[in-house]
Amino acid sequence: MLDIKNLSKSYGSLSVLRDINLSVQPRDVVAVIGPSGSGKSTLLKCINFLEPYDAGEVRFDGQLVGYQESGGLRRPAGERQTNRLRAQMGMVFQNFNLFPHMTILQNVMEGPVQVLKVPREQARERAERLLAQVGLSDKRDVKPTRLSGGQQQRAAIARALAMQPRLMLFDEPTSALDPELVGEVLAAMRELAQAGMTMVIVTHEMSFARDVASRVVFMEGGYIVEEAPPAQLFTAPQNPRTRAFLSRVLA
Ligand code: ADP
Ligand code: MG
Repeated sequence: MLDIKNLSKSYGSLSVLRDINLSVQPRDVVAVIGPSGSGKSTLLKCINFLEPYDAGEVRFDGQLVGYQESGGLRRPAGERQTNRLRAQMGMVFQNFNLFPHMTILQNVMEGPVQVLKVPREQARERAERLLAQVGLSDKRDVKPTRLSGGQQQRAAIARALAMQPRLMLFDEPTSALDPELVGEVLAAMRELAQAGMTMVIVTHEMSFARDVASRVVFMEGGYIVEEAPPAQLFTAPQNPRTRAFLSRVLA
């Protein structure tokens, strides 16, 4: 589904992604771990082209994301082409980003109605089903400020799912939450994984990564240092830098 080859990106003289190679198959759940500043968020943003990249390629279903090629040259793809690919990827950020002036139900209906042109009734039915799925049926008519952080994040997940993405990208979805609210969001993500959603999740929740991920990627300094199934990466990391990181965060 997703194929990243030799991906590199710099901000000025700062090299943020260096020769990244990563493949994601349908139903994969890939956890991306690593220290702050290692390039995890930038990697997610290059996948859906919120950030342009300098070299290498990101392909979604074989299609180059963000650029078009002709005669060995590459130039930026048209807005429509990029949006069409981007629409197949749902993204959930640390800070929910719900529309504050809309109810939870309206938040979840907005994309399907405005962007996908789904008839309102159909969008409403789907939104209600998704809100039930994340345990928020009783909150559908209130505005986001009336919800806890955990509830807001579950609403943000429902909103992303309403666009019927084929791939879900999560960037530290529980990092802004009070500790007692982390579990309910992870539970919603776990259910999504069990339902077969393909997911790339940047997270500091090591036990979640160990239980739910099919593969774990450890990044440091813009490199993928190690990639392995969780049973291997967490119990027998091969690279000394992976070992050092894990002993720091698991201490
Ligand atoms: P992570 O998500 O792993 O913490 P990021 O991908 O956010 O790391 O950032 C990687 C590096 O790129 C950091 O050194 C960060 O300061 C830098 N960086 C991120 N975004 C920008 C930007 N828009 N302009 C300049 N530098 C940036
Ligand atoms: Mg980040």
